[in-house]
Amino acid sequence: MGDPNAPAPGRTPSGAVTARREMRDHPAMDPITSIDRYVPDYTHACEVCGTTPVVAGMKAERLVYLATMCGPCLWSEPKALDPATWNEQPPA
Ligand SMILES: [Zn+2]
Repeated sequence: MGDPNAPAPGRTPSGAVTARREMRDHPAMDPITSIDRYVPDYTHACEVCGTTPVVAGMKAERLVYLATMCGPCLWSEPKALDPATWNEQPPA
């Protein structure tokens, strides 16, 4: 279609992108960063204050993270007592 921005065959427009790929080979380093959303787990009690539920993390509908603490203890945020607030994005 004559796109002037298309890279010419056999040439790489930028070789700097490939270096970052190695970082993605270690998904287990910080599982929290790969959580889609938080869900309440009522089968466990917070190890600090005994409150239920504790915080669990879901990724692609699978449980990938289970905290031993409730929302307020995990995030030091009293408002986190309500699981409905767990997936709200904090104001930037
Ligand atoms: Zn707690």
